[in-house]
Amino acid sequence: MTEKLAWVEEELKALREAGLYNNIRTLGSPQGAWLVVDGKKVLNFCSNNYLGLANHPRIVAAAKQAIDKMGVGPGAVRTIAGTMDLHVELDRRLAKFKGVDAAITFQSGFTANLGTIPALVGKEGAIFSDELNHASIIDGCRLSGAKIIRFKHAQAADLEAQLKEHRNKFRRAMVITDGVFSMDGDIAPLDEIYAVTRDHDVILMVDDAHGEGVMGKGGRGIVDHFELNGKVDVEIGTMSKAFGVMGGVAAGNAKLVEWLHQRGRPFLFSSAMTVPDVAACLAAVDLLEESTDLVDRLWANADLFKKEMRALGFDTGKSVTPITPVMLGEAKLAQDFSRALYQEGIFGMAIGFPTVPRGTARIRVMISAAHSHDDLEQGLSAFEKVGKKLGVI
Ligand SMILES: *Cc1c(COP(=O)(O)O)cnc(C)c1O
Repeated sequence: MTEKLAWVEEELKALREAGLYNNIRTLGSPQGAWLVVDGKKVLNFCSNNYLGLANHPRIVAAAKQAIDKMGVGPGAVRTIAGTMDLHVELDRRLAKFKGVDAAITFQSGFTANLGTIPALVGKEGAIFSDELNHASIIDGCRLSGAKIIRFKHAQAADLEAQLKEHRNKFRRAMVITDGVFSMDGDIAPLDEIYAVTRDHDVILMVDDAHGEGVMGKGGRGIVDHFELNGKVDVEIGTMSKAFGVMGGVAAGNAKLVEWLHQRGRPFLFSSAMTVPDVAACLAAVDLLEESTDLVDRLWANADLFKKEMRALGFDTGKSVTPITPVMLGEAKLAQDFSRALYQEGIFGMAIGFPTVPRGTARIRVMISAAHSHDDLEQGLSAFEKVGKKLGVI
């Protein structure tokens, strides 16, 4: 390595020494309840594949058929020559699924945030943002150049105080919150947030990445869960989690979506979603609209797992969703726990600082509709064994 890049080696070394280096595990199998991870078959408690759609036969078949008919790549950005009838159909179907006027798809949830936020508020504006919002929201806010005013996590009263103090200093303003917070599995009090924003001339945006396909009727999301349909200006979603594919969406008010067609930069300057992705997403919407079975099974699995974990004496934090944090405290304990689980054939990742605050390290268990009853029992007995061995329970 040349001298000018010596700092990279130093930084990497520092990460390793601090236990913050990302060691990336490699899957040798399709996504599902069980995975082959670095050559070993393990029960999967880590994926966002909430409904088991990532390798669902109907979704796989839809992607293959679309490739035969339409090829693979979109060939251009959406605004030049990359909008195929499939893309238009997906935009329409997602809007209908969410019960809103219109929707616009992006390449990912991340780019949906990067595209949407700066299009709606700029240098003269302000963004009121939950302090625990996702990195892609934070980056979207920074890109916008707006003044970022953080409110206390999930506290509508603090948001109200901030709005009263700051709203009138800015031309335009927006309130942004995650719907479901991915590290704790708690949710935004969207009903209270809506009530607080109603009188303040602010755009209300919620990022429902972990709520799509999970919360609300048949997985219609957190806005539906709070029966706020038509009241939230823009919902960001992802097709990479419960939908099991890849892609992002902004859905809501028709004028706002029309504006994003003109000003959403990743829509204008990065190529469209690929053909198999779009077809797979359409098949996912079909499945969700046909039946609530998968969503019901996801919740039944999550309720069972959480109840049994609590009965064993584990602390599952403040989760009200299928995301189940198993609170352990020190990062080292969480890492030892994760390693011992892996020995028992369970894939559960330790999460520590800086992803979560110091002293709140945990194993984050992601429950899926793909898990069978036996899978959950096996997971529970491994947690019991490791918990006792490490003196957690
Ligand atoms: C996962 C996630 C994203 C990113 O979605 P991708 O489609 O994977 O890019 C955005 N926002 C939130 C809140 C998320 O949890």
